[in-house]
Amino acid sequence: MRWLFGDQLGPHYLGGGDVDPDPDGERILIIESRSAFARRNYHRQKAHLILSAMRHRARELDDRAHYVAAATFRDGLAGVDGPLSVVNPTSWAARGFVHSLSDSRPMEILASRGFVTSETEFASWVAGRKHLRQEDFYRYARKRTGILMDNGEPEGGRWNFDAENRKPPPRGATTLGLPEPWWPVEDDIDAGVRADLAQWEAEGLRFVGDDGPRRFAVTRDEALRVLDDFIAHRLAIFGPYEDAALVGDWPMAHSLLSAPLNLGLLEPSEVIARVLDAWREGRVPLESAEGFVRQVMGWRDYVWHLYWHFGPDYVRHSNALDAHTPLPAWFRELDTAQVKARCLSTALEEVRARGWNHHIIRLMVLGNWALQHAFDPREVTEWFTANYVDAYPWVMAANVVGMALHADGGRMATKPYAAGGAYINKMTDFCRGCAYRPDRRVGPEACPVTAGYWAFIAAHADAFARHPRMAQAARGLDRLKDRDALLAQELARGSRAP
Ligand SMILES: Cc1cc2nc3c(=O)[nH]c(=O)nc-3n(C[C@H](O)[C@H](O)[C@H](O)COP(=O)(O)OP(=O)(O)OC[C@H]3O[C@@H](n4cnc5c(N)ncnc54)[C@H](O)[C@@H]3O)c2cc1C
Repeated sequence: MRWLFGDQLGPHYLGGGDVDPDPDGERILIIESRSAFARRNYHRQKAHLILSAMRHRARELDDRAHYVAAATFRDGLAGVDGPLSVVNPTSWAARGFVHSLSDSRPMEILASRGFVTSETEFASWVAGRKHLRQEDFYRYARKRTGILMDNGEPEGGRWNFDAENRKPPPRGATTLGLPEPWWPVEDDIDAGVRADLAQWEAEGLRFVGDDGPRRFAVTRDEALRVLDDFIAHRLAIFGPYEDAALVGDWPMAHSLLSAPLNLGLLEPSEVIARVLDAWREGRVPLESAEGFVRQVMGWRDYVWHLYWHFGPDYVRHSNALDAHTPLPAWFRELDTAQVKARCLSTALEEVRARGWNHHIIRLMVLGNWALQHAFDPREVTEWFTANYVDAYPWVMAANVVGMALHADGGRMATKPYAAGGAYINKMTDFCRGCAYRPDRRVGPEACPVTAGYWAFIAAHADAFARHPRMAQAARGLDRLKDRDALLAQELARGSRAP
């Protein structure tokens, strides 16, 4: 019997083992562990998505599926006899659990799946390297797979198209003017999940966020519809606007594929193959196809491998910037009523409404605020894990601890992704109509993100003065005439909502 975890739901998680090599004949075990949902206060839509996905998969597999709802995984396994096979799960904790079980019952553990590059390929790339750089890994993966390569050279003669990509939103635009994305239609399984979650809540489980219509795919059919829709309507301008954000257009030209990819419904290589077909057929420009491949094979694979490479203690032991501020209640509870800064209120409202925002909002609004205000990296990791529909431990570690918070002292990113309001004003329309002004550092109209940036630089001024990529910012701080007033203002702000 093949045991599938809730993030191993696509056909590529079947078959391929010694115990039962016939993918169509295998019986499938899926365990719905209630304790897994009680570990933290999850966003309601995240819990919904995972339950709905597992139950849909069981219905698809029909009488091949053995679906067990139990208090814990251990309880769920208690009634299952005979040998099991399982694809190596995606977290340190789950791998430890599965390996411990294999001492007491026949269990075949298969190599992990669901990424373009294998753990062995990453090991050969990383061997002997002092500095890990995503760009180097990405080029290695391109060469290794031949994706977007032409006779050993990158397609179009360049590895990256940043000059064409990463543009601010069109001037004056309130949306990108794209058609509504394709949305899934909820069914009786979703209704059952909703009723169960209401019952669990009545029995004491706590969820955060709004209960809303399900926006993300939970079946392979739905995931393929989302992929088709993205390629047909949004991929062409994905590259140019991948870093831009508009209050009135939460999906922008993004794919909305992270949740189905991380549920294991799609293989990243099939997603890439479809995108490359669209490019070869002239339906999308190279810069958008490349920008997207970079995200999926360059970033997604990279953070996956780093999760294992950095080890089980990476999140727990990384706090290079000595950040110990507990998450303030307004941030933790997504309480936007208290927040006047439009960038933060928009970002938190999006999280509350659907447990998702696109990359630049996660990194440059929420992550940036957490970085500036020295939020404790472990708490921030917990917050993202609980709130995002696409979050799993493997994707959190490098993105939150390494990229957003620079808490690993530079193992992941060469410098902190810290920015002031000017960056947000350039790449979004969030500052339009905001109570604050991005060009003001001090006073009632001072932008808290701009002031927060300088207070952050000041807090680490000695270290940054010696840092090749931060020294200029540290020198800039010395030139601020209002430095003392700014620092007093930010000290007084503390953890209050901006
Ligand atoms: C602080 C922070 C937290 C994040 N948390 C998550 C998370 O919980 N789950 C998650 O899948 N991604 C996470 N990301 C990465 C990225 O923001 C999301 O993958 C993306 O916003 C999902 O939307 P999309 O599917 O429309 O992506 P698109 O913009 O359309 O990108 C295509 C795909 O590329 C992959 N991808 C792109 N960047 C990354 C990345 N840095 N890490 C991993 N995959 C990437 C995703 O699978 C995504 O679906 C995080 C990034 C930051 C900075």
